[in-house]
Amino acid sequence: MAGPEQVDPRTVGLETWLAEAGRRPEWTHGLINPPVHRASTIVFRTYADYLAASAQPDRGMTYPTRGTPSSWALEEALTGLEPGAAGTRLMSSGLAAVAAALLSVVKAGDHVLVSDSVYDPTRRLCNGLLKRFGIETSYYDPRAGAEIAAVMQPNTRAIVVETPGSLTFEVQDVPAIAAVAHAAGAVVIADNTWATPLYYPALSRGVDLSVHALTKYVCGHADGLLGAVTANARCWPALLATCLDLGQCAAPDDATLALRGLRTMKLRLDQHDANARAIAAWLEGHPAVTRVIHPALPSHPDHGLWVRDFSGAAGLFAIELVPMPDDALARLLDGLKHFVMGYSWGGYESVILPVRPEKLRTAVPYARSGPMLRLHIGLESVDDLNADLAAALARAQQR
Ligand SMILES: *Cc1c(COP(=O)(O)O)cnc(C)c1O
Repeated sequence: MAGPEQVDPRTVGLETWLAEAGRRPEWTHGLINPPVHRASTIVFRTYADYLAASAQPDRGMTYPTRGTPSSWALEEALTGLEPGAAGTRLMSSGLAAVAAALLSVVKAGDHVLVSDSVYDPTRRLCNGLLKRFGIETSYYDPRAGAEIAAVMQPNTRAIVVETPGSLTFEVQDVPAIAAVAHAAGAVVIADNTWATPLYYPALSRGVDLSVHALTKYVCGHADGLLGAVTANARCWPALLATCLDLGQCAAPDDATLALRGLRTMKLRLDQHDANARAIAAWLEGHPAVTRVIHPALPSHPDHGLWVRDFSGAAGLFAIELVPMPDDALARLLDGLKHFVMGYSWGGYESVILPVRPEKLRTAVPYARSGPMLRLHIGLESVDDLNADLAAALARAQQR
């Protein structure tokens, strides 16, 4: 059958891998893309086929929660993006992926260290469900590198990093944290949604389990909900077993949308990056903006770490404004023409969100003097977006 044989990601350029990954002839059956396999029943043609499938349930078509070519193609594509990966499992959402990664490593009596900058639902998971099952969590300063050794406990089983934090954008020294974790036998779990493996190969930085909300840049069009965990060889067997125990799987339609998104992801991400940096630099000169919090700006306190470890920046950053009353903030937000207000990001569209990170912190207080806005810069014209923001800032300042 025509089509690329299984491509080895180490032998081709990144762009080629993004274009060809997952297109195995036995999965595509002569189509260019693997089709959407909507299925609950997988049919065994003979008793011998049934016995063979049951003996190796993860090797082929056995039961759709274990996967079909719709999910395998995306899993294989994602695994190939992370040097050092042993496998990837898809989940129904990014949060489900965070949960599966954690549940695959902890047991009752364990302790988990979580960055104080973490995605808030991860905090709820740790303080609620994990606590109920006898797992304690403490939160650490996201700017701790090797000093994290001081807060390690004999039963610390996992360290959760999110670099940069998706509200406050502290860049973490993951290689230093991983050295401490591994010396103590602990596992490092990274939420790598912001940079994606394209800009941050997490496993190469010392991470064992790399979590992705595919909902964001991989799907890329604000129309899918999907998560994934990519694991190294040490963590892969337990991750796979945990996903099977939890019945974790992804909808074939969403997996297909994500694979489609992956084909253009590098182009989109590079454009998000360029647009966001242009707007961030412009905002830095605006009198109503006291601080632009973007790791690729030299003014960012962790800029050096970002330069060392990342090859690009996402379109998501934050700004702090001069102090203003709430009705001024309402005027700013309510008249926007191009930015929409919402929580999710990573689609083609520009999104704005007022954020209050100080309400979430428990390890290190977060200080700010004026309103803080998180911006996701989409693929619209930079001039239109700047004009939208300029008008919004002017509305906020009119009496
Ligand atoms: C959105 C997001 C998630 C969760 O993804 P969902 O698919 O929306 O559940 C996890 N981590 C980060 C950093 C996110 O931005």
